[in-house]
Amino acid sequence: MKKIDRRKFLGISALAGAGALATNVVARPLMKENATKKAIPTRVLGKTGLEIPVLSMGVMRADNPAVVRAAYNAGLTHFDTAHGYQNGKNEEMLGAFFRDKDRNTFTIATKGKANLKSDNFEQEYEDLLNTSLRRLQMDYVDIFYTHAIEDFGALKNPRMVKMLKKFKEEGKIRHIGFSTHANKPGQIDEAIEAGIYEVCLISYNFKLDILPELNAAIQRGIDAGMGFVAMKTMAGGVEDAEGKKQVDGAACLRWVWQNQNITTAIPGFTSFDLLDNCLEAAYSPELQQKDKNYLANLQEKEMLYCQNCGNCIQQCTKKLPIPAIMRAYMYNYGYKYPALSKETLMDLALTGNECSGCETCKATCPSGFNISDKIAAITPIVNVPSYFLT
Ligand code: SF4
Ligand code: SF4
Repeated sequence: MKKIDRRKFLGISALAGAGALATNVVARPLMKENATKKAIPTRVLGKTGLEIPVLSMGVMRADNPAVVRAAYNAGLTHFDTAHGYQNGKNEEMLGAFFRDKDRNTFTIATKGKANLKSDNFEQEYEDLLNTSLRRLQMDYVDIFYTHAIEDFGALKNPRMVKMLKKFKEEGKIRHIGFSTHANKPGQIDEAIEAGIYEVCLISYNFKLDILPELNAAIQRGIDAGMGFVAMKTMAGGVEDAEGKKQVDGAACLRWVWQNQNITTAIPGFTSFDLLDNCLEAAYSPELQQKDKNYLANLQEKEMLYCQNCGNCIQQCTKKLPIPAIMRAYMYNYGYKYPALSKETLMDLALTGNECSGCETCKATCPSGFNISDKIAAITPIVNVPSYFLT
């Protein structure tokens, strides 16, 4: 059994403290309401017809409305949140920010997890969407994603299809989408078969091992009229496995935009500096030689992005949900967002002592992750009271 690495575990609390300080950032003096906007190229999102700048804002960790304002004033029009982010405070912040804005000047996407195992799924899913709309202070969202689809069958499940169609018919959502980290090519094909999905939100970055297979599936989706939005574009946000050095977001984004089938990317910038780094890319989105050199150097390096290949699950004695645990590890050590890390692990009903009784780790990883070490360094966060975490 792996013992908890006390140094790493204490690092969780230290990061939480650092995050708490970071939330005190208030405003950017230079950004004016009517600041001159430079041109950001736009692309059309499949058959939705929505024309969106290639750069959008993933509002997952941002809790400072001044950063949202800076993004909006810089010409970003698409903002992506989720029902679960920051326990609903993220949607509330966006609702307060957009309350007095012209509804035609922005599009909003939110996501909701569907518990298809529940007998009461229909009522629960409807309540979830109504709660999101109330927090957002909106009559409708432009895109509603059924969130974090992992299992095959979910997208075609008749109960899921019926509810998503109902939401659209009632005018609460304009377009139906799904998001997924796992089994991406297969999920895209299933969505095409289901026939109701207009938008797909997928993890997409230069570290992906299955690029040819994924690009082919994206092309099939495009041919069927779907639009594609990219997340996890920075492959974990840091250059190194220790989470010490911020990745060059501009290079990562330019790499993503090479694929014309990706309409927009939703990096989760939380500060003005990170926004500026993304804008620098959006103003000149062509991949440059220096970007290629930079990304080539990172290609073989161990970073924090888990490919979600699932190989390790079969090898693990306890069949632990390792890819999701690795995602939680990335949220904490890459994104410096321990609250989301805990939330991800709580969704998996983990106890913080997962490898207990297992003398030798059987799970191996082609990306070079020391799986049991990482599990020991992140799962104890489920026992840290939430008020210590940001
Ligand atoms: S990851 Fe699985 S195989 Fe490895 S130590 Fe933990 S329980 Fe055992
Ligand atoms: S083997 Fe490695 S890359 Fe694949 S799912 Fe497991 S941790 Fe992720």
